[in-house]
Amino acid sequence: MIEKVDHIGIAVRDLKEAVAIYESILGLELAGYETVDEQKVRVAKMHGGPDCIELLEPSSADSPIARFLEARGPGIHHICLRVDDIETTLARFKERGLRLIDEEPRIGAGGCRIAFVHPKSTGGVLIELSEKKS
Ligand code: ZN
Repeated sequence: MIEKVDHIGIAVRDLKEAVAIYESILGLELAGYETVDEQKVRVAKMHGGPDCIELLEPSSADSPIARFLEARGPGIHHICLRVDDIETTLARFKERGLRLIDEEPRIGAGGCRIAFVHPKSTGGVLIELSEKKS
């Protein structure tokens, strides 16, 4: 089942610049940096109370975030939903006709198991599912 909105992912060209905006100007708290090699992305986790925004900077030119920036510029990239059982959720979404980018979960930031659902089947929003590492 869906437990909560886990985070919002925002594509940025320059992580330092983006962190400065979110931290110094907007007043969110920097919780830490992480590089996720599998997704070719550098992540800065920003906390606003219990909620989280992930700033995503491509770590290589063929990163999905680099392609997103090229096509659409900086901005909201995805919304992540926390689920208790990612396999069951993926199977249910597939049954309901959603187009899955990942048929099988893979490892994302924080060691969570994640999978993406194609924006073409969700009204234009890239949805990430995340199951917390137990
Ligand atoms: Zn995410």
